[in-house]
Amino acid sequence: MKTFEELGVREDLLKAIAELGFEAPMPVQEKVIPHLLNGDTDVVALAQTGTGKTAAFGLPVIQRIDVKKRCPQALILSPTRELCLQIGSDLADFSKYIPELKVLPVYGGSSIESQIRTLRQGVQIIVATPGRLIDLINRRTVSLENVHTVILDEADEMLNMGFLDSIDDILSHVPENRKMLFFSATMPAEIAKISKKYMHNPEEFVIGTKNEGAANVKHIYFMVQARDKYLALKRIADNNPSIYGIIFCRTRRETQEIADKLIEDGYNADSLHGELSQAQRDTVMKKFRERNLQLLVATDVAARGLDVNDLTHVINYGLPDDIATYTHRSGRTGRAGKTGVSVAIIHSREKSRLKDIERKISKQFEHKEVPTPQHIIEKQLYSLADRIEKVKVNEEEIAKYLPGVMKKLEWLSGEDLLKRVLSLEFNRLIDYYKDAPVLDIISNDSRGDKRNKSDRNSDRGGDRGGDRSLEDKDRRTADKGYERIFINLGKSDGFFAPNLIELLNKNIHGGRVDLGRIDLLSGYSLFDVRKSDASKVISALKQADFYGKRIYSEIAEADKNYAAENKGKRRSTRNEDMRKKATSGAGDRRKSSRRDDFKERDRKPRGEKPAYGNYESFNNKKNKKGKE
Ligand code: AMP
Repeated sequence: MKTFEELGVREDLLKAIAELGFEAPMPVQEKVIPHLLNGDTDVVALAQTGTGKTAAFGLPVIQRIDVKKRCPQALILSPTRELCLQIGSDLADFSKYIPELKVLPVYGGSSIESQIRTLRQGVQIIVATPGRLIDLINRRTVSLENVHTVILDEADEMLNMGFLDSIDDILSHVPENRKMLFFSATMPAEIAKISKKYMHNPEEFVIGTKNEGAANVKHIYFMVQARDKYLALKRIADNNPSIYGIIFCRTRRETQEIADKLIEDGYNADSLHGELSQAQRDTVMKKFRERNLQLLVATDVAARGLDVNDLTHVINYGLPDDIATYTHRSGRTGRAGKTGVSVAIIHSREKSRLKDIERKISKQFEHKEVPTPQHIIEKQLYSLADRIEKVKVNEEEIAKYLPGVMKKLEWLSGEDLLKRVLSLEFNRLIDYYKDAPVLDIISNDSRGDKRNKSDRNSDRGGDRGGDRSLEDKDRRTADKGYERIFINLGKSDGFFAPNLIELLNKNIHGGRVDLGRIDLLSGYSLFDVRKSDASKVISALKQADFYGKRIYSEIAEADKNYAAENKGKRRSTRNEDMRKKATSGAGDRRKSSRRDDFKERDRKPRGEKPAYGNYESFNNKKNKKGKE
């Protein structure tokens, strides 16, 4: 491997990059730097973000600038404002010891006047988003006639964003004999086409494999029912206490919804999507970059240009429609030689798309089972132990309080003390995950089963293995000690989870009843209670009514078609006024009868949606204080 010096990098640049900690060139730099410094041909470089491409083009571009000329000589086009700023800042770092060199990022959303003023003072490198540059060209405030090098960064993203015409327009203002470089993470046919159109004998450098995700990214997937995706997401986060990741959603609405739920459930999360103002997006990105946020829920478009290294996880909350998007998402982890994990939470219908992606990226996804409560508890306790080990003790300040506290606890042995400290977290977790449902859908052809068993068990705490089917899964759920109850009230009766909880609280005397999953349908509902409570619940409900409607409940039969049965049975006992009262009054009752957190959680105005998985949400909410 050559050194930067051997690649021809000049002394003043060597000094600056040494200060940045660059010891040896990365592969893309080894290929591109000498070529850009000495070669004649144009270049298409297939390289993911995070492979060191900014320095690969940035160092030779800076070196080829004649600082005595105060006009633009190099043009770098980027698809987004954020990437534009990032490149500008990297070039400023590289040129720290070249004070005469001026780099100007020009992008939409900031004052064009101040950009024009700086341009007039003379800049040699322009880093631009296409739209703003065209604006400046049209105002005749920028001249590109001395530009000898043009770089298109994230060329595939530029095409995705519909910048082809703008690029055409911009290049018509740049001399024909310019040197051109395209950097792209993927190689769609369009890139090949436009490189033919704009370049002279382009040479292709491939860093890694075409269309392949970064080499050090592990691709895994979890398969759950669509309605359990959120619960699976939380388990994944809980199982990785130091997670620092982006959760990609398909729509703005889904992005906001997931972020809201995570925040409500006590996670350190926020959203990033196109409906936020630029100022809001800047704030969120800053918080995330500075690691004041652990989880960023984002759309693909909004996350473009968010240049963050060291992500531990990229989470696909469902798979994207096109494979290039998956490559971009997963390329955000495993950067700069680090390892990363790209997780897909899918439902069974997405399996064929997963296979398409595998074929294109030439990598297999590993099937993993959603972490079990036992495994999560273990991970969280180790994380706590780790924090205890590493916490910085303020000896001076704590000294004044120590004798008193020591005196109070002197009767405890070291082991007792440790048990108690751990129990502060452990009790919360054990309560939270008590009877948490199994989330995985395990199909018979699951590749997980073909893999080495000990490997699988190590992912999950070693609690299950062997061939399984959906029937097995149902049996396991039943074994967990729950019974499914049918009740003749549904959403069309104005009956939602808070009403069910209130009904149970009002009619069951003597001890609390633990609720599991609740499925609210139009004309009826199904919910889980402990087997030992089932008959108590059914007989208590016999005496009850819901705003005038007699309640009927029974142990649900697996094969019974309740929807068909219930249709005929719907009677006119539903009093419309009462029904309205039942739904609209929920807010008022919330104030008056906040008897436990479960009620509080379920009275959130999400009553229109099926309240699946409330058990876990409830516990998470209740215990959010201790969440990382
Ligand atoms: P990029 O692909 O340009 O976004 O670079 C990814 C990260 O790698 C950035 O944080 C760079 O500062 C870092 N980097 C680039 N080149 C080197 C190098 N030769 N040695 C160490 N780090 C590097």
